[in-house]
Amino acid sequence: MPEAEQSIVQEFAFELALCAHLETSEQAVLGRQLGTQVHGRRVMDVVRIEPGPAFDERTAITPESIPSLAIESDVGPGTARYWKDAFDCHPDTAEQVIERAVDVGFFERERRNSRTYVRQTTRYPDWFDTVVGIENKPDLGRPGDLETQLLTDVALSLVDKIVLATESYVTGAHRNRIPPEVGIWRFDPETGDREILREADQLPVDEAGIEILDRSSARTEIRVASAGAIERARRRVAERAYGKGWRTYDLPDCEQMAPDDAGLPYCPWKGETVRPATECGPDCGGYCSGDAPSVDFDALRAQRSPWEPDPAGRKRRQSGLDSFL
Ligand code: SF4
Repeated sequence: MPEAEQSIVQEFAFELALCAHLETSEQAVLGRQLGTQVHGRRVMDVVRIEPGPAFDERTAITPESIPSLAIESDVGPGTARYWKDAFDCHPDTAEQVIERAVDVGFFERERRNSRTYVRQTTRYPDWFDTVVGIENKPDLGRPGDLETQLLTDVALSLVDKIVLATESYVTGAHRNRIPPEVGIWRFDPETGDREILREADQLPVDEAGIEILDRSSARTEIRVASAGAIERARRRVAERAYGKGWRTYDLPDCEQMAPDDAGLPYCPWKGETVRPATECGPDCGGYCSGDAPSVDFDALRAQRSPWEPDPAGRKRRQSGLDSFL
């Protein structure tokens, strides 16, 4: 396997092992590979959303992500509003957002004089607290653009804390290259041992941030992200993490596949966690065509985290719907 591909596979296995460890050790919502940018493009390896005061109110709405534009619209929980007056975007987009928000139970709509009016089924709650961004670099000998990524995260301050997670021995030289605000964890994916080498600082998430868009050219290109834009981006990432979780991979249709208790795609033939999207299929020497193992990822997530797959409010709505059928 080429070195770059090997590194991606190693990072994938490390990331899943870390997510499985964090899921059982802390009551939080975890997401993988989520955008933590305002204007640019930054994909954070793992995002940990710590529950806030109204977490239960959020779990009661829907197990899925609530669309950001629905939350940011002028649709409130009181009087229903004519939909065209409540959105500051293209009508086609607004219609799609309304459809989705109704589907997930955040909006309800009614018809008056051939017009559609919408309202929130409940006020959007203040459900999350600290947002931690975790950048995984199992092998610090192959840092890639780690330094720029971490500098960008600190300057933007969209997440409350940034942590670098590695399997490598961390030397003084490594520490000096990592911005001082960034925490450092040493994590062993085989044993699940995690050692906090340096605590992460709280970043100023309530203020405007500076987003580094390009640091590769002769001059650095930056853009200011307003406090409001950061607040919206934080909510967007929290919603995506809540809806998607971290088991966002498919298990392969290979009889060798033997997922572990946490649902990690372990392959006994290779003797390790594999990355199904790139390692599995007829080209693999151990491939035995069969059915993909049936693992209920939602049930696993519900057992191991505060995410609620079937909230009571949703059930009430569904049974209410049934009575009209
Ligand atoms: S395709 Fe290969 S790597 Fe994937 S589960 Fe089967 S034997 Fe293992």
